[in-house]
Amino acid sequence: MTRKYFEETLYEGVQVSFRADNIIFEQKTEHQDMVLFDNPVFGRVLMLDGVTQVTTSDEFIYHEMMSHVPILAHGNAKHVAIVGGGDCGMAEEALKHKTIEKLTQIEIDQSVVDFSVEHFSAFNTGVVDDERFNLVITDGARYFKETKERFDVVMVDSTDPHGPGEVLFTEEFYRDVHATLKPGGVLVTQNGVPFLQRQELVDSISRFSRIYNDAYAYVAAIPTYFGGHMTLGWATDDETLRRVPLSTLEERFAQAGIETRYYTPEVHQAAFALPKFILDAVKDGKAAA
Ligand code: SAM
Repeated sequence: MTRKYFEETLYEGVQVSFRADNIIFEQKTEHQDMVLFDNPVFGRVLMLDGVTQVTTSDEFIYHEMMSHVPILAHGNAKHVAIVGGGDCGMAEEALKHKTIEKLTQIEIDQSVVDFSVEHFSAFNTGVVDDERFNLVITDGARYFKETKERFDVVMVDSTDPHGPGEVLFTEEFYRDVHATLKPGGVLVTQNGVPFLQRQELVDSISRFSRIYNDAYAYVAAIPTYFGGHMTLGWATDDETLRRVPLSTLEERFAQAGIETRYYTPEVHQAAFALPKFILDAVKDGKAAA
């Protein structure tokens, strides 16, 4: 029986392919090519425009690190926003914080949400029924240009800077987000694998640096984001947020009462201790600002 393989098309000259034992969906949506399939190692896999987005095997790492780090660093987040996040795993993780009163998710592609709610119940159950969850289907860049809403945390869980995701990596978008952040607010972004996408990190840091007081990054090890450390961009006007004492993080995490499989207060702190080659990319970004 010939098996079908789906290739990661993100990197020139490198081929990562996943065997698809059961193809659930393979079609162009209004905005992008969407493929959903089962793989014997990584479980259920979502690809958009040939790039791995989320898998049931390691989604917990990315969703825990992109949500709990800014929310626990902030310490009193009431209104948070997710840009993208169509698989709703980020929303599910953020909504575990009972102190959050409202979560606004701005997703461009309704199809991704519809299919994810149906096929990724392993990690997004309960999101759409949570009365705090508010889904807005539109382009994230347009939303932040027009919204009157104000946020404590904005998490950009976007695709890579190609196709519909490209606008979410621009200085204009980061400036528009900055205008919606309340005092002490923080922006975190999906910022690629710097071993293979170094310039993406340099560019984001240089754009952050022109707008926010503190432009930095933190890391997590996510197996399906091939190529080593995954960086998450960090931008805020409150420079203390990156240096919250461990004892405070431990207190807040205990109070939140959230079960995790990757995040711990120690891992939170250690995530900002960047390997030298990534720290150099951050420094290059600041220098280019
Ligand atoms: N965790 C994944 C990663 O790191 O690549 C991202 C997952 S999530 C599926 C990415 C989402 O971004 C998709 O649902 C896609 O439709 C959405 N998206 C892309 N461009 C967008 C835009 N301009 N505005 C809002 N959502 C967008």
